Amino acid sequence: MNRREEISTPRRTKEIIQKYGFSFKKSLGQNFLIDQNILGKIVGAAGLDSTKGALEIGPGIGALTEQLASAAGKVVAVEIDQRLIPILGEVLGPFPQIKLVHGDVLKLDLKTLFQEEFAGLSGISVVANLPYYVTTPILMKLLEERLPLENIVVMIQKEVAERMAAAPGGKDYGSLSIAVQFFSEPELICTVPHTVFIPQPNVDSAVIRLKVRQQRPVDVTDESFFFQVVQASFAQRRKTISNNLKSRFFPKGDRTELERLLKAAEIDPARRAETLSIQEFARLSNVVHEAGLK
Ligand code: SAM
Repeated sequence: MNRREEISTPRRTKEIIQKYGFSFKKSLGQNFLIDQNILGKIVGAAGLDSTKGALEIGPGIGALTEQLASAAGKVVAVEIDQRLIPILGEVLGPFPQIKLVHGDVLKLDLKTLFQEEFAGLSGISVVANLPYYVTTPILMKLLEERLPLENIVVMIQKEVAERMAAAPGGKDYGSLSIAVQFFSEPELICTVPHTVFIPQPNVDSAVIRLKVRQQRPVDVTDESFFFQVVQASFAQRRKTISNNLKSRFFPKGDRTELERLLKAAEIDPARRAETLSIQEFARLSNVVHEAGLK
């Protein structure tokens, strides 16, 4: 039997697009990958084998999906664009281990989907070239829903990847870094030029791996309050932590109580939020929460 030509070669991608008369929808973030080397890096970073499952978000015409099918025991691919479903059904026909789901990943009950589709597998990872317009909501949904995930390996906008992986002290570090690092250990895998997509996006891209934490890195008494304190602390980046927290928790009062709380958390009121570690934010939010502030 002839070896099938991979979907991701520029020739085959163009052929599929032409055959089905497919037109790209910018509003759905449709930029298809045409580089086997990058696809290999994405799949390799997920650490898959035949005992494991992969959830792909946005398979497009299946370039990554077919590679995942060779690396994992089962692949579930969720695609929002109805026009792609028959195309995927045909091009991925030779892979019975792929399950296609038509839907918006943001609206799907992923817990139930996992129970139904991945039962008996030894680990599940999300692997995707994400639509850039919804990168953050998708990743926060995956992390906050506490799905039983090992790795999330995704191609995203380079600037967003840098913010997710940033350490305290720099301009990239902010509430997104803390949210992602609370739930996972991020690692930049590689940067990707815009020339490896059809059509080419106008931003640079990067592949990032989020190793999902099985235990939280810090103890917080109230998780949602912790994130409120983080948001409030970064409300105006150039302001001190004391000024930002005053606007949020003591808009009319004086500073005495706030200074006492910062002291109890061992945080200098003159510092800016971008210098605080996740441990310091945890200490701060626990002290503020204990004081009964809302
Ligand atoms: N995986 C393909 C590749 O690498 O060539 C396509 C990636 S393309 C950047 C993003 C894909 O996500 C598109 O196929 C788009 O239709 C799909 N998509 C966009 N929003 C989505 C959503 N909310 N849920 C599921 N799929 C979505």
